[in-house]
Amino acid sequence: MSWEGKPEPVPLAPANRAPLAPEYPWPAGNKAAMFLSFDVDAESAWTAKDPARYGELVTMSFGGFEARVGVPKLLELLREEGMKATFFITGWSVEAHPAMCEAILRDGHEIGHHGFHHLMPMPGDPSLVEEVDRGLDSLKRRLGVVPVGYRAPSGESCEELRVLLKERGLLYSSSWRDDVRPYRHLLDDGTPGLIELPVTMTYDDWLYGLSQRYSPRSMFPAEHVLSIWKDELAETRDWGGMVTTVLHPQVSGRPMRLRLLRNFLRYARDFGDVWIATGEQIAAHFAACEKGDRA
Ligand SMILES: [Zn+2]
Repeated sequence: MSWEGKPEPVPLAPANRAPLAPEYPWPAGNKAAMFLSFDVDAESAWTAKDPARYGELVTMSFGGFEARVGVPKLLELLREEGMKATFFITGWSVEAHPAMCEAILRDGHEIGHHGFHHLMPMPGDPSLVEEVDRGLDSLKRRLGVVPVGYRAPSGESCEELRVLLKERGLLYSSSWRDDVRPYRHLLDDGTPGLIELPVTMTYDDWLYGLSQRYSPRSMFPAEHVLSIWKDELAETRDWGGMVTTVLHPQVSGRPMRLRLLRNFLRYARDFGDVWIATGEQIAAHFAACEKGDRA
């Protein structure tokens, strides 16, 4: 395609050409779903852009809070509420904090892939393959885990990565921002890709509760955040869709944030018809419905 013979810098087509999300019913008569998930970046959240920051010990301590306090307190909360979640963990966090990761596993939560050094997956980046393969190696070697789910570090992705994740046998991704129901990716070569469990920035706690020199922003009170979280869930439930949390133990493991999360989880549970589930459960449900469709 061209205009007056000039090459087209942006293809005249949607960037995501996947078919619309099918309206499969949620299991057990539920009206909606909540994918309860955490991103365990630890210090790699801060070293991803500049490894030299490893020497900046107070900056590192934001990430270090996860292993010392944040993850144990979140695990305690999930035990109390009787909920299972997915923890997307960077390979670096697995290597540096194996006891923290073993505790997550011991409590029966799902562990997903979140890169190795938390490098943002950009098109053409030569580190794409190493980030995926090294992350897989750490999860397998240290924890005996072969993940089925992947969340892109810093919320970016590209075609090379979509193809690579499919080749490595991943079942689902949870990174795209373009739907309120799961759907199946369509790769540029016309073949099906992973199942997508879409995300919304509404449930990214980093935006409301973390302020630091390299990540400066205002902090929001619990009432403000709870109001946003409740409204998004209530309307999504009316639509029969799903919400996905993107919570970080260095944020939601802080005392006031944890209290807020407890209140929100109870609000969600009190509907009685919101399926609070791991990514693996939601993706498996989608795959089963899809199979039924084809049968
Ligand atoms: Zn992350």
